[in-house]
Amino acid sequence: MRIDLHTHSDASDGTCSPADVVRAAATEGVAVLALTDHDTFAGLAEAAAQAPRSGVRLVRGVEISCTHGGISLHLLGYQPDETDTELLEELGRCRDLRVPRAQQMVARLVSDGLPIGWEQVEELAAGGTVGRPHIADALVRAGAVADREEAFGRYLRPDGPYYVRHYAVDAVTAVRLVRRCGGVPVFAHPGAHTRGPTVDDAAIEELAAAGLFGLEVDHPDHDEATRAHLRDVAGVLGLQVTGSSDFHGAGRPQRIGCETTSPDVLEALLAEAVPQPGRRS
Ligand SMILES: [Zn+2]
Ligand SMILES: [Zn+2]
Repeated sequence: MRIDLHTHSDASDGTCSPADVVRAAATEGVAVLALTDHDTFAGLAEAAAQAPRSGVRLVRGVEISCTHGGISLHLLGYQPDETDTELLEELGRCRDLRVPRAQQMVARLVSDGLPIGWEQVEELAAGGTVGRPHIADALVRAGAVADREEAFGRYLRPDGPYYVRHYAVDAVTAVRLVRRCGGVPVFAHPGAHTRGPTVDDAAIEELAAAGLFGLEVDHPDHDEATRAHLRDVAGVLGLQVTGSSDFHGAGRPQRIGCETTSPDVLEALLAEAVPQPGRRS
């Protein structure tokens, strides 16, 4: 049985509709699928409607943008109470502040004479989640840089003068919040160095103490050495080990189900989720 516990639809930054993510899972022989869009539950209703038609079991999830000691990290929350006010407010803050943050970065670039505009960046985002990739595209289009890579290197890197940090909830708070909502928290791609700085083992220990269930060890962004190290850390801290594709549709190369979680871990995870009244899984 193939189990993939981390995927994105166009409710966040994936390119497939939620129903198409479920269909893609069925095509790839994935029997259990979690949809975990960034900071939103918006895709879950459509995915839940499609799942029985495709013979896929849906695990309801979300990927929460967090921070710990100034470092960005992502927390997966499985089966939390989606009506919890505090959780919804926190997710709303993450979403709402993306636009002003991008606008601020554009304003800094414009004030330094870069020939781009906010309307153009918005147009390049085409209604999706606006972010640095779209600002980079605007810089490319304006001829200020040759490609996205140069745009990130020269203008958009986190330690550069144009970068504006985006709001994110403290990771320890987020772990406790997910647990309080009856959900099960898993640290997403804890060792994905290529995306930026990652937290150290002491931070993982802190999250474990706050109620973390597991580490997403098997992830496309982790090399063998990272996986081996994280497996050791999980063993020492008594954390479970999950594996997932982090599928984004056409936006990234990985196929759905390319990394998987064992049935034992899924069972343990679902056993820790507190059932919400009025919801059938
Ligand atoms: Zn992530
Ligand atoms: Zn993700």
